[in-house]
Amino acid sequence: MNMPAAQDALKKYFGYDTFRPMQADIIEQVYAGKDSLVLMPTGGGKSICYQVPAVTLPGTAVVVSPLISLMKDQVEALRANGVQAAFLNSSLGEADQRAVEDQFFNGELQLLYVSPEKLTSRDFLPLLKRAKVSLFAIDEAHCISSWGHDFRPEYTRMKFLKQEFRDTPILALTATADKLTRKDILRQLNLPDPQVFISSFDRPNLSLEVRPGQRRREQILRFIGKRPNESGIIYCLSRKGTEQLAEKLQDAGITADYYHAGLSPEERDAVQEAFINDNTPVICATVAFGMGIDKSNVRWVIHYNLPKNIESYYQEIGRAGRDGAKSDTVLFYSYNDVALMEDILRQNDSDQVDIKLAKLDRMRQFAEAVGCRRRILLSYFGEETTEDCGNCDICRNPPKTIDGTEIAQKALSAIYRLRQQVGMTLAIDVLRGSGKKEIFERGYQNIKTYGAGRDIPFLEWQHYMLQLLNYGYIEIAHDEHGVLKLTPASKRVLFEGEKVPLVRFATVKERQEAEKAQ
Ligand code: ADP
Ligand code: ZN
Repeated sequence: MNMPAAQDALKKYFGYDTFRPMQADIIEQVYAGKDSLVLMPTGGGKSICYQVPAVTLPGTAVVVSPLISLMKDQVEALRANGVQAAFLNSSLGEADQRAVEDQFFNGELQLLYVSPEKLTSRDFLPLLKRAKVSLFAIDEAHCISSWGHDFRPEYTRMKFLKQEFRDTPILALTATADKLTRKDILRQLNLPDPQVFISSFDRPNLSLEVRPGQRRREQILRFIGKRPNESGIIYCLSRKGTEQLAEKLQDAGITADYYHAGLSPEERDAVQEAFINDNTPVICATVAFGMGIDKSNVRWVIHYNLPKNIESYYQEIGRAGRDGAKSDTVLFYSYNDVALMEDILRQNDSDQVDIKLAKLDRMRQFAEAVGCRRRILLSYFGEETTEDCGNCDICRNPPKTIDGTEIAQKALSAIYRLRQQVGMTLAIDVLRGSGKKEIFERGYQNIKTYGAGRDIPFLEWQHYMLQLLNYGYIEIAHDEHGVLKLTPASKRVLFEGEKVPLVRFATVKERQEAEKAQ
């Protein structure tokens, strides 16, 4: 098969005149009978990479996809374009399955979507062997890796493909895979000589910003106030959180709604429709929202809570600015969110906990970064960068550091004198000489550092404490109700005069000005 034929098929079946960068190279590789791993962001055009070979090569392209709910739509869209396509998964009845299998056997299909369960089921292999398969496409290939963020055990049983079908090209495709995941995909599929295609993950039209997670609702109201009628999504951790936030926004006169998996399918469709048609500009949603939504003019995405890993974060902010126009993303960050997410990961997902915690830690590091955030994001996906982006909060407003040694000494000696038995809020209250009942009940007004940090406002103290935590000068004991503990590094500050640079706390005026400038 040759490229002019591919070009014709692109026009005939899909209505496009030219391939996007990389699509043509990938298709050539398939025509040459070789295997590939394709890493392309969502919306990058991965489907064309196997659909064009599917309609030009003899035989049937078998596409493995875990997204059973999307298969029907995909197949219908292809059929509407004149492609002979079908799908096989557990949603079909016996008779329908048999009909599709007959079509496959008789060579009447150009494309067959199958669930991983179906592909790896024992009774399917004989059929696979007797039918003529032009290529295997493994969509959402990151699901194969336990290091990937959406591991599916069924996906690990596909090693047999290369063993049984040595000469059939395999195309593994994904939008999210860091280096380890990529290695794992290649190893598990046992591809002898694959070519790896990585298209750029850079979305320069998206601004990146991390804000302290304090007074989030006020911040959101101001943010939306400056963007009347623009479409945006606010991702929240809990279903209840989406409902409460939507109500608050409505109270403030904003047309907003909420979306989560607890709604009925009809309700979900209605919310989604209203968003797509610009009738409801603002949606407060859990991560259930957005999959398969093709809306190009989403102008902003806010994360009310910390996402559980960088892949999810990237995917969610990626729903903004599909049309290429400037769009804004904001992530609210507080240490409490990290602790909360850790608890959730420990409780809900009993397997892969260590990997999940490690991924969460990368997310935390991103949020706490003091260097260009886009570079961190791109390097996570394996792209080399040499220049700062100029479109993230750090680039626009590089943090200024101060000599925080005295601040650190006060904080650490307070923690020491409080016998490492109080949490962050109470420690700050003691430093500020607060008159809280709890302090007097416990006699903390008598310790030497009581009131020693009176001149520093509470929020500013929080800002410094967080840094001390991030730099390892203090620890939080999660198994002891989050009390603050000293570390070897804190002893160096207290007893050996180690200097502690801290990022300065922006004054209210500075923050107001930074916000105005946005
Ligand atoms: P992905 O699977 O990578 O998320 P899709 O395959 O769904 O991306 O493609 C995203 C969008 O880009 C679709 O609307 C698709 O029709 C469009 N597209 C893909 N390739 C081309 C092309 N060569 N020219 C124009 N549009 C394209
Ligand atoms: Zn930057």
